[in-house]
Amino acid sequence: MEINSGYINRLIEELERLPGIGNKSAQRMAYYIVSLPNERVEKLTSAIDNAKKHTHYCKECLTMTDSELCPVCADKQRDHKTIMVVENPRDLAAYEKTGKYRGVYHVLHGAISPMLGIGPADIRLKELITRLEDDVDEVIIATNASLEGETTAMYISKLIKPTGIKVTRIASGVPVGGDIEYIDEVTLLRALEGRVEL
Ligand code: ZN
Repeated sequence: MEINSGYINRLIEELERLPGIGNKSAQRMAYYIVSLPNERVEKLTSAIDNAKKHTHYCKECLTMTDSELCPVCADKQRDHKTIMVVENPRDLAAYEKTGKYRGVYHVLHGAISPMLGIGPADIRLKELITRLEDDVDEVIIATNASLEGETTAMYISKLIKPTGIKVTRIASGVPVGGDIEYIDEVTLLRALEGRVEL
């Protein structure tokens, strides 16, 4: 017997599609949402709607932002000659939380994965190479310590090497297979400080 209404079920289905949300959590959230006063639900839906409508890629580093340049790229105090390459905006946020990194970023929006058929052209590498035409001292590769992350790091270092720009890789303080976004700030900082030249 189907105990939920069709509408609730549809909401549960949509919530379940979100990353990290299982069926139980989706059910809890769905019942919670429909029990909320109308204004709260409107706030939630308009927050989703507005975030979607007004968010796009930063013109420089390609992270998500609602202005032309993200706060990091817009900050003249930052060292624009040091570029840290990360896989996604969440990794950028993790490094920003340390409060110690003074350079800028480049967000690849993925990693090379021959297994999943994701090649160099499927991530934002071309944009990185274009940025290197400006005055750049160092590229710090901070992709994840996974097979995909390592493959991507290797590919990028080979690509940049001939330009003479210094290429470094964050130290292995980041556990193998570990997602940067879940790693504590102390470990992230240690990985950054212990980076090695490729
Ligand atoms: Zn930016």
